Amino acid sequence: MPATCTIYQPTEGNLDTCAQLLRDGEVVGMPTETVYGLAGNALSEDSARKIFRVKGRPLIDPLIVHFADADAATAHIQMNTAVETLAAKFWPGPLTMVVNKQASIPDIVTAGLPSVAIRVPQHPVFRAVLQRLDFPLAAPSANPFGYVSPTLAEHVQNTLGTRIPAVLDGGACTFGLESTIVDLRDPKQPAILRHGPITQEALSETLGCAVADRTLGSGDDKAQAAPGQLMQHYSPRAKVQLIAHGETFSARPSSSSVAIIYNSQPDNTAAHTYWLSEDGNADTIAHNLFELIQRLDQQGYTELHIELSAETGIGKAINDRLRRAAAK
Ligand code: AMP
Ligand code: MG
Repeated sequence: MPATCTIYQPTEGNLDTCAQLLRDGEVVGMPTETVYGLAGNALSEDSARKIFRVKGRPLIDPLIVHFADADAATAHIQMNTAVETLAAKFWPGPLTMVVNKQASIPDIVTAGLPSVAIRVPQHPVFRAVLQRLDFPLAAPSANPFGYVSPTLAEHVQNTLGTRIPAVLDGGACTFGLESTIVDLRDPKQPAILRHGPITQEALSETLGCAVADRTLGSGDDKAQAAPGQLMQHYSPRAKVQLIAHGETFSARPSSSSVAIIYNSQPDNTAAHTYWLSEDGNADTIAHNLFELIQRLDQQGYTELHIELSAETGIGKAINDRLRRAAAK
């Protein structure tokens, strides 16, 4: 393994090179529209094991399997009408569906569960690689387990570069937050397991029925939380403390190791003060959030005070990640 991985621009030749690495059983950092993924052959137990090892991810935390299109998934899952309806509306895109699996998906991928999480991603680079392969790709976020998810190829290189051969560069991820996960094992009782870019309201409207909230902290989480949905997650080295939405951090930072992050540009911009958007646009905040946190973490700040978002739309997903980053 080289001292650090190669960052490949997505030329036809480099896409071929990365596809071949994946055929050879390697794992490769790849851009998606949500965050960068650490991809490997989802039908190979050895490749899946390598993903867990590289990330330091516990084997109880199942992986999401990525397909070129919904048709490619049908051979590996128990299809149902709710999956078909949501796939027609939201795929390719940032929606992961949990369904019952078929025997072709190795147990290690699903942490021994009879269900599998599946998604058809939208990012043209990820799609171009899938189109070169005759197997789906298991891909969790390409970060060491528990750390903030990567939204740039450099984030992957900085944290996992010595453990993988390659990362494909697809620029900054559009959404910047992990996919929404919805449990559709029973198509009549859909439930959100993780908030993300596709909202509960949008799912409910498309399915024409209520969608339960079984995310961590929803009150309904104890019995049926998604495996691997750990309370402390997405954490930088720096200690994270939360500022209520719309509030100002009152104390002046006591030292230069303390940074403050607001949703929008404040009137008075003091030292060590940062903002995620000019105007408070939630999509922009999500897009910039992990990049800014990682940059300030690298700069050596030891305390980050971060403003929560309004609890609507993608704001729910932003706040979910922030609360877990702040959890002890
Ligand atoms: P990541 O790939 O890091 O974004 O995390 C994927 C997450 O998907 C896991 O941590 C689980 O919470 C969830 N997940 C994956 N497979 C399943 C499954 N079969 N049932 C429920 N949740 C799942
Ligand atoms: Mg992750």
